[in-house]
Amino acid sequence: MKKLPQVLIVEDEPAIAELIAVNLRHNGFAPLWAEDGVSAQRELDAALPDVILLDWMLPGGSSGLNLARKWRADPRSKHVPILMLTARGDEPDKIAGLDAGADDYITKPFSTQELLARIRAVLRRRTPEQAGERVQVGELVLDGETHRVSFRGQPLKLGPTEFKLLNHLMHNPERVHSRAQLLDKVWGDHVFIEERTVDVHIKRLREALGDAGGLVETVRGAGYRLSSRQAS
Ligand code: CA
Repeated sequence: MKKLPQVLIVEDEPAIAELIAVNLRHNGFAPLWAEDGVSAQRELDAALPDVILLDWMLPGGSSGLNLARKWRADPRSKHVPILMLTARGDEPDKIAGLDAGADDYITKPFSTQELLARIRAVLRRRTPEQAGERVQVGELVLDGETHRVSFRGQPLKLGPTEFKLLNHLMHNPERVHSRAQLLDKVWGDHVFIEERTVDVHIKRLREALGDAGGLVETVRGAGYRLSSRQAS
């Protein structure tokens, strides 16, 4: 029998956790529940789940944001998709969650259908570009395993979102990507994120790339493209 995808629910409110768990169980997932950061860490140490649903507001000093950062920094858990559960509607908080390494977020209250769709989407997105292979475009090299990026042999420092963005662009060089396509492929199905968020991260990516920044081209009226021409 095929192993059911394991979903670790990190949520301090039992009623919400139970509701999520029941729905997941009915839809072919194996849910686990941790009520705080300590027990979540214990679950992760025992076995890596396929997806983590992480509540933003948790008791006892370990906010969802800090946990996401910690798990992303740990080589063992860094590839486990994290879906943030947030009660807040503020755009900066969502962006902070994504910057901390969350793959997606969902705002409470959410429908079961929406939650299931988001979980399936993050599982689907564990495509080759997330599998940790090495990709090279011109003199730009990205190693998905070690998360290192270099240009002409010089290491570059990128934030987690910029890394994902570059990873996607490098797997599809010369192709023009619209902002909506990038939101879908890099951020997930973020219907609530504005397209200008893409522009902000493209700007950061160019800055982080330094001399190679010019390879990320703006295609007027269409979107962005990673050029495979030689940087000057
Ligand atoms: Ca909570």
